[in-house]
Amino acid sequence: MHHMTLAEIARGLADKKFSSEELTKTLLARIAQLDPQLNSFISLTEELAMSQAKAADARRANGETGALLGAPIAHKDLFCTQGIRTSCGSKMLDTFKAPYDATVVAKLAAAGTVTLGKTNMDEFAMGSANESSHYGAVKNPWNLAHVPGGSSGGSAAAVAARLLPAATATDTGGSIRQPAAFTNLTGLKPTYGRVSRWGMIAYASSLDQGGPLARTAEDCAILLQGMAGFDPNDSTSIDEPVPDYSTSLNDSLQGLRIGVPKEYFGAGLDPRIADLVQNSIKELEKLGAIIKQISLPNMQHAIPAYYVIAPAEASSNLSRFDGVRFGYRCENPQNLVDLYKRSRGEGFGAEVQRRIMVGTYALSAGYYDAYYLKAQKIRRLVKNDFMAAFNEVDIILGPTTPNPAWKLGAKNSDPIAEYLEDVYTITANLAGLPGLSMPAGFVDGLPVGVQLLAPYFQEGRLLNVAHQYQLNTDWHTRTPTGF
Ligand code: GLN
Repeated sequence: MHHMTLAEIARGLADKKFSSEELTKTLLARIAQLDPQLNSFISLTEELAMSQAKAADARRANGETGALLGAPIAHKDLFCTQGIRTSCGSKMLDTFKAPYDATVVAKLAAAGTVTLGKTNMDEFAMGSANESSHYGAVKNPWNLAHVPGGSSGGSAAAVAARLLPAATATDTGGSIRQPAAFTNLTGLKPTYGRVSRWGMIAYASSLDQGGPLARTAEDCAILLQGMAGFDPNDSTSIDEPVPDYSTSLNDSLQGLRIGVPKEYFGAGLDPRIADLVQNSIKELEKLGAIIKQISLPNMQHAIPAYYVIAPAEASSNLSRFDGVRFGYRCENPQNLVDLYKRSRGEGFGAEVQRRIMVGTYALSAGYYDAYYLKAQKIRRLVKNDFMAAFNEVDIILGPTTPNPAWKLGAKNSDPIAEYLEDVYTITANLAGLPGLSMPAGFVDGLPVGVQLLAPYFQEGRLLNVAHQYQLNTDWHTRTPTGF
């Protein structure tokens, strides 16, 4: 039962082959048995899951249908869930129970999903390895000595290990696509504004976007359908109709123009990953796509710009955690300054403190123009590069990451080495574009992802290309040994 995709579950439930209650019990037992090795969950919500499963079965018995009705999922632990701990992977929010549901959580619940729990993540979504969580590192099911990627590493490890078919995640600089690549999943970061950020604890508000992590493009289409849409509670949510993502999955790729940026293949890219990217290009050519070389000349400036902008926004967003209103408060504060200092010093981990320091520095008087303003100018240049490229091609293809998943602890002493691993993913966030990572092969037994980028609101196109690729390849069907 645990091998089924969301699409297969929907068919099985519709054909009365099993009930949501049976499926939910099976998966909860599997999580209890296997998750101790992975550490992919922060909280399990068994009671909620069983009551949602029963309610979904009752709705189906009453003749209701729907691809998500009775489908078990989990939420990254930065989506607020009413009455349930929402920790954001931080000691700061270890005991915080959200007073309301995030829009994404509410929409998916209304569609009939069953919430099995809240998944582990890098603290405040800062990281590319899922090692900065207050609840400990998450392990990669493909090799337990390796990281699963971050910051949505818990969602990724759980789905890859077949503990559940799909999960929500968020992507500020790659945190859906990079863990998807590291664990052999399909992950989609939507256009900025496509999915509501209301109730999604903020890291860097102009970059954050929620999206689906699943095994197939077809399943990403199903989950995105339940997440996307205008939300008056989010002032950057965009009031555009949501297309039916499943209807375009089978469009032909004949004549599709795919751009491959020459800058993607420089030093730093593992040559074995470069070969797998070339193989995926050949596969798409067989399906009728036309390949063009393109250029993204400002790509080299994206990492420095991102690692100014994201910490700057984080330093502002995280100022609300002051020991007074939310979360952790130090013992016996001597005065107000002591309360602030010790609550934040004890409640935040090292990486979060580093980002707050960098961001505060970049925004301070005298340095604002030199760092923050300069980074914003680079952001515009990165966006302009994409706009020029999309005049010539329909999608852009390349590696999702320069290397496969590294060993746990390998980059702990060098944060910049970890930042550099985001080189292919962060440009989409700077520009607000949608991006998808899909499984494209293995290096030393570890999965490798290929990334597709498209113009604004062309999520359907990304899902279409990935689905056609998956109909003709079987990388996405490979299962990690032991799971
Ligand atoms: N690795 C990037 C960072 O640490 C991106 C994280 C994310 O997308 N949430 O900022």
